Order: sequence, then C-alpha cells, then structure tokens
Amino acid sequence: CGIVAYVGDKMAYPILIKGLQRLEYRGYDSAGIALLNSGIHTYKCLGKVNDLEMHAKGEPLSGTIGMGHTRWATHGEPSDANAHPHTSMNGKFTLVHNGIIENYAHLKKELELRGYQFRSDTDTEVLVNLIENIYLEQNVCAEIAVRLALSKVVGAYGLVISCADEQNQLIAARKGSPLVIGVGDKEYYLGSDASPIIEYTDRVIYLNDEDVAIITKDDLVLKNIQNDALKPKIQKIELTI
Ligand code: GLU
Repeated sequence: CGIVAYVGDKMAYPILIKGLQRLEYRGYDSAGIALLNSGIHTYKCLGKVNDLEMHAKGEPLSGTIGMGHTRWATHGEPSDANAHPHTSMNGKFTLVHNGIIENYAHLKKELELRGYQFRSDTDTEVLVNLIENIYLEQNVCAEIAVRLALSKVVGAYGLVISCADEQNQLIAARKGSPLVIGVGDKEYYLGSDASPIIEYTDRVIYLNDEDVAIITKDDLVLKNIQNDALKPKIQKIELTI
C-alpha cells in the first residue's frame, strides 16, 4: 500500500517513520521498517505506525539506509508475520512490495520443490525468495537476480529491495504500482507517492513500468528489466506540505 525508503548520510529511522505517517491517509493494516547497519534489522507489526514505534522502542535503530511499508493485505490475513518488509529464507534479500504477484502460487510450488520454506502467507515472500534463489543458483549480482526474477513475475509491483551482500545500495522497481525517487544532495528519498518526499526535495524521478533503479547515496543507475540503460529524467514538483 505505502512505501518509503532512504539512502544517504542521515539517520534513516526518523525519516522512515515520518514518511509512513505521511502515507497513513491511504489506509493500512500493519507497518514495518528495515534498517541496514551491519546486517539488516527489521521491525514490523500489526496495527498503526504508532504501534510500530512502540514495538521498535529501545532498539538501536541506527543506519543511514532503510525502507518502510504500510500494508493493505491482499494475500494472507493482516498479521505480524505477513507485514512487510519480508526477508528471503537464507537472509540474502529484504524487500517491501506494493501490489500483487498474480502467479505467486506457481512460483511458490517451484520454490518449495527447491527446498524453500515460507514464514508468511503473502505473495510478496514468494518474490523475495525467487530473487534469492536466482542469486544463489546462478551466482549473479543482486541487480541481475532482481531483473531475472521480475521477468518471471505476472502482476503489479512497486518494490524497494536490499541485498545483504551489497549494503550500501537499494534497488527500486515498478510495474503498475507507482514509485517516486526524490533526488537530494548525496541522498535519495523513495516513496509510493511524493508525500513522504516533498519536505526534503522538489526534484523527483517518476519510475515508469519495468524501470529498475540501482541507488547508492552517490549514484543512481536507471535501466529496464531487459538491461537497456535509461536516462533518469529529473522533474520539479510544486506541492505544498
Ligand atoms: N500483496 C502484498 C500483500 O498482501 C502487498 C499488499 C500491499 O500493496 O500493501 O502483502
């Protein structure tokens, strides 16, 4: 339902929480965040962003890269386990997802035959495990694994993905579910709409269907799923907070 993410030098946690609050107007049943800081640290629960803050209270919550999500359940009841972010079985990938993976049942069966076990009832967990399976079996980098996995997916997605082996980067992708990237000074803000971004920057890149963005604080590389290079088009938005 709602996605927010940050890559830069600031502490990500307050930016993510504020971003999730800005996205609350869309409605949701659960919320979660993941922070990258020598490993990936995920906090998620059923309920409101306030409940998530209580849940995460007392934790270190440091890290300058992270992602957040408010979920509107489509596959799997609203619950702590079904809340996003979701992490792959061997811990290599973590992601947040808006939309629906329509062929998840077929993909899930294939993964189960390869030994994958699932901790949630979501279509989303199928995708994160598919990416990991390709990454480990084909021994490719995270970005290639993501593009290969997405070429097998039928459905709609807005995604922010992190790989445990490439902790300075986030990968964003969309098809049929919007994703906006705010361009700052050596930092990037991501949102499923501009509302979590506009207080930080008015320079944005709207992803198109089948775009994939590989983002570090110093660089953004844009391509499509087929690996054609694309030129990011930065636009100015004029919105009031
Ligand atoms: N289909 C996913 C789920 O049920 C994502 C739902 C959403 O867009 O929030 O977990």
